[in-house]
Amino acid sequence: MEGGCKAQSGMDKELDIIIIGGGVVGTAIARELSRYKLDVLLIEKESDVGWGTTKSNSAVVHTGYDPKPGTLMAKLNAKGARLFPSICSELDVPYKKPGSMVLTPDEDGFKELEELKNRGKINGVTNLEIISQDELFALEPNISRDIKGALFVKDTAITSPVELAIALRENAEQNGVRFLFDTEVTGFEMENRRIISVKTSRGNLRSRWIINAAGIFSDEIARLAGDDSFTITPVKGEYALFDKEVGNMVNHIIFPLPTETTKGILVLPTVDGNLLVGPNEHITTKDDTTVTEEGLNEVLSFGKKEFPNLPLNMIITIFAGLRAKDLNRKDFIIESSPAVENLINVGGIQSPGLSSAPSISIYVTEILRDRGLDLIPDPGFTPERNGITRFSNLSWDERAELIAKDQNYGEIICRCEYVTVGEIIDAIRRGATTLDGIKFRTRAGSGRCQGGFCGPRLIRLISQLLEIPPEEVTKKGDGSNMVIGETRQ
Ligand SMILES: Cc1cc2nc3c(=O)[nH]c(=O)nc-3n(C[C@H](O)[C@H](O)[C@H](O)COP(=O)(O)OP(=O)(O)OC[C@H]3O[C@@H](n4cnc5c(N)ncnc54)[C@H](O)[C@@H]3O)c2cc1C
Repeated sequence: MEGGCKAQSGMDKELDIIIIGGGVVGTAIARELSRYKLDVLLIEKESDVGWGTTKSNSAVVHTGYDPKPGTLMAKLNAKGARLFPSICSELDVPYKKPGSMVLTPDEDGFKELEELKNRGKINGVTNLEIISQDELFALEPNISRDIKGALFVKDTAITSPVELAIALRENAEQNGVRFLFDTEVTGFEMENRRIISVKTSRGNLRSRWIINAAGIFSDEIARLAGDDSFTITPVKGEYALFDKEVGNMVNHIIFPLPTETTKGILVLPTVDGNLLVGPNEHITTKDDTTVTEEGLNEVLSFGKKEFPNLPLNMIITIFAGLRAKDLNRKDFIIESSPAVENLINVGGIQSPGLSSAPSISIYVTEILRDRGLDLIPDPGFTPERNGITRFSNLSWDERAELIAKDQNYGEIICRCEYVTVGEIIDAIRRGATTLDGIKFRTRAGSGRCQGGFCGPRLIRLISQLLEIPPEEVTKKGDGSNMVIGETRQ
């Protein structure tokens, strides 16, 4: 690295590819490129992967019946959804297929359901069936008696987006990709419409190709290189997450009829057994992930129309995510920059960007190949990665066996989610450095008490394991320190 600290060795020479952004899209591209003999580096401004939009969405693997036929979104969604089961199995990431229902509140809505079904067929989606009110009530006993019927999409699935980004990172790293965290791309050095060096908060780096996967900031990254071909409008979606105790209120992912701009407010189970309600849709600013009283009321009153018994006293947390929408093109923008020879833009990755991440990564690789990059398969590529052993998922016999091997699995640190010290040690060994990094890898702090019990214990443990003072332990990197000083000497 020139002009700054040498964060990692071996980066003085020109790299083949720099990926900007470690969301699910950037990490999927990193993993896909790790199949080839290439020198690849991913730069992320946060301390970990998946902390942008990837951590705040509905986590649905959409089958692809919704996007307008002929769009890139329609093509990549349907292909991504088909790739999802095998990717999740290779990378040991949760994937469940509860199926989804698109509800109609009146008889007229059946026409729209028919249109959606036809659109799905055109997009290559199968297993779509329009069901009657009686069939719906049998499958969803808690649903409002006002609903008239639904489009049943049997293959709609749910996953864990941040776990997927973490797994993609780990697998890409296993296969030689390097990651630079806490490093912000701040500009480019240009020469004859080419980026000759990427300026970062920790020095400059040289690379033959630059892939811009910076989510809601992808338009700003492109502009830094003199490319103003697209504009991202952040569109906020707010959510309420309910306790696992009421996770079985709903058996499928429940959608209303979609509008031109949104799939609407959902009521759905999560892969971990919680109940999730949201998101609404409001244009905002790129730094606004607040949940407002009006926003929350909007989401909850909608949910209550479909599920009148929605137990509002069971909400354990609220959050919001920002969709990266290009309101002009209304499609994914995945292309060689029209202004910069060695920049590939991966922008406008709004929903269904998670579902499409596997196919986006292949599409980007194909663009690079078409542009002349030599893709020589690496015979050493390993597609598999093992996740952290979840103590709570094991049988009593398996738990006893694990504790016999390592006593750290005999100590529960998060009482809500039954997370053991052994799992925290494994998370830190794999690169977690913050409370959020541990939460997303192990679920410690994700349960009913939201870290009230395990938080202080985790701070002590992180401090011990990383050999840093407790004052340096952060929730999510710089400026989010958990302990500011001693109250008693
Ligand atoms: C409310 C909501 C609901 C959604 N529901 C679904 C769904 O159910 N199913 C589905 O398929 N999709 C869904 N999506 C869409 C999906 O979440 C996104 O398409 C996907 O997460 C985008 O991933 P990404 O990697 O492009 O962006 P991000 O996850 O935002 O990653 C971009 C990364 O770039 C980094 N970065 C930015 N600027 C810089 C810089 N200058 N230097 C270094 N790093 C930088 C950021 O820190 C960030 O980590 C939803 C989105 C929202 C908001």
